[in-house]
Amino acid sequence: MALRKTFLSGRATRIGSLLLVLAVLTTAAAVGVGCGGAAVEPAAIPQPSGQTGDPPATAPSLPTPAPTLLPPSSPTPAATVAPIVDPTLALRATQTAAAAPPTPEITGAAINPTTTTPEPLPTPYGVYSWTLKVPILMYHYISQPPADADVYRVDLSVTPDNFRQQLAWLRDNGYTGIDYYELSLAIVGVTELPEKPVLLTFDDGYLDNYIAAFPLLQEYGYKATFFVVTDFVDFGREGYMTWPMLEEMSRAGHRIESHSRTHPDLRDKDRDGLIWEMLGSQQTIAAHVGYTPRYFCYPGGDYNEATIQMLRELDFWGAATTANDTWHGFNERFEWGRLRIRNDTTLQEFANVLDLEGTVRGKLPQ
Ligand SMILES: [Zn+2]
Repeated sequence: MALRKTFLSGRATRIGSLLLVLAVLTTAAAVGVGCGGAAVEPAAIPQPSGQTGDPPATAPSLPTPAPTLLPPSSPTPAATVAPIVDPTLALRATQTAAAAPPTPEITGAAINPTTTTPEPLPTPYGVYSWTLKVPILMYHYISQPPADADVYRVDLSVTPDNFRQQLAWLRDNGYTGIDYYELSLAIVGVTELPEKPVLLTFDDGYLDNYIAAFPLLQEYGYKATFFVVTDFVDFGREGYMTWPMLEEMSRAGHRIESHSRTHPDLRDKDRDGLIWEMLGSQQTIAAHVGYTPRYFCYPGGDYNEATIQMLRELDFWGAATTANDTWHGFNERFEWGRLRIRNDTTLQEFANVLDLEGTVRGKLPQ
């Protein structure tokens, strides 16, 4: 470690000198082409209201979640723990170093969208990351479907009454709402999840999410993640949420993340088309909520290697599919599944889905 530090600082000095020379040359050559050198200013992470996420007293002494996402100065290594693969455990140690060598530092929670410095993906310390079993619920509409609704519209709609009952069940059974950022940081071993985490997601940005879901989430103290189609918002499409609504929800602690600009089948898009849909929506959301959204939801659940590769290039940290899955690991971060909550999902079925044996906590295997 000391050797590495020395090496880095010596190298930094050389790079510093080089940069100085370059800066002088550049300034001389290009006076008036200013770009400002914007400082990276960590924006405040929206904090959930009414959350109770204190780790249990018996929790192992992993670093606790820091709002700034700064890593501890000497992270407790998870690397020495032998990988235990037991399907009843809530997590699995996963060897990830070969696929993704650790990057040096996580430098900040959310960066000012005007800066060009990308926030690095949180990567595992050492060799292992954790594959965590966490229920990620997928919702679309929270409303009574209209009388003329087709079978798909009905299936995608959960009534506000049912949604309230589901939130009440979550609260009565001690679940804590988390977001994808918390999930990522727990997977790489930076933080620990609450004892019973649940991640609520809403696709498409329907207006009833603001009218019906948002007040209920506030009432029951659950944060949620809303995947929005930014052109629908930009052009004020009827039946969808507006930017003031989304900004208000973001300030209240919910996450606004990307569901593309126009909700196309991304498998049909060429490279430019993918950039336009993904980067365009990412930057638009960043401009409105003050942090760069790092999670993507595939429109229609459709994706391929090219879409995943583009998400990597654009510094996304993960993506949601419509596949039915509750295990979430680092290497599969662009294919994290979810649990679909349907119009006819009964409270008992909801409870069965949530009561995953062994779910529940991000702790080291015993
Ligand atoms: Zn969608």
